Amino acid sequence: MDVAYGMIHWMTACVVERTRRFDDHVSIFKSYAINQYLPTIVTKYAECVHASISFLAAVRGSCYTSVQYPFRPVGFAPRPLFLLLSTMPTIPVIQNILSANDQVALENRERFFEKGVFALNLMASPGAGKTSVILATSERLSPSLRAGVIEGDLASNIDADKIAARGIPVVQINTGGGCHLDAPMIRAALPNLPLDDIDLLFIENVGNLVCPANFQLGSHLNVVVASVSEGHDKPYKYPGMFTAADVVLLNKADLIDVFEFDVDYFRRGLLMVNESAPLFILSCKTGEGVDEWVEWLHQTWHNRERD
Ligand code: MG
Ligand code: ZN
Repeated sequence: MDVAYGMIHWMTACVVERTRRFDDHVSIFKSYAINQYLPTIVTKYAECVHASISFLAAVRGSCYTSVQYPFRPVGFAPRPLFLLLSTMPTIPVIQNILSANDQVALENRERFFEKGVFALNLMASPGAGKTSVILATSERLSPSLRAGVIEGDLASNIDADKIAARGIPVVQINTGGGCHLDAPMIRAALPNLPLDDIDLLFIENVGNLVCPANFQLGSHLNVVVASVSEGHDKPYKYPGMFTAADVVLLNKADLIDVFEFDVDYFRRGLLMVNESAPLFILSCKTGEGVDEWVEWLHQTWHNRERD
């Protein structure tokens, strides 16, 4: 723990300015820390965390910083930017972004409860087939379950148009470059949906296997869609996402032979990080395996907690 404290102080001394999506980095890090490792540090050294994260973000320039337990930046090389930032002052924490998001997520959940809506948060990398899963699933839903969709994308209405063409109520959220959906975005979208006429709400998150898992939306079920074409190593490389899954769908099963996809290796990787999430292997293209997933979804809906 002393090492961790020391690292924080060192980083704080080095840091920082506001970076793009600065608050995301802070809340991502806090959620990691609160959930898993370092609650004391988060409360006592919030300013330092703030500074440390933005420092790492500035050096890495990516949404998700390379922080691993505890505070070990992996694989970043000091760059001239580091020297520049080292002369800048630390910015104090002014609010707890994570709490703010979680608060809105709770409001969303209450809204779902009022309206009898069961919400699914679909997360996957780009091109894994989230939209195809929504279409294939909604086609097979029992007539008593009516679907609705929130589409999250960096830009465009392409996926929302596909959904709307099937006569399913849909709202598009364009994040304008943001790499995940958050609870306030969902709250803003809800008034644009006929919630009284929706039983299952599919929320298609932005294509990204990293940070979407760290932002509560108020949904009931995390559905992670992996696909054969991405390779069988994804649970090993993106454990956070697969840990957060309540159910995992492996899409594009028709390509297993083409890609020499090792299903057992994938399954073992999933089990390493998540023993409880069922895995469904399916192909939205051929329809193989989709019925089993939809049957499970029906069962889950019937057994849902009415909170
Ligand atoms: Mg899509
Ligand atoms: Zn993000």
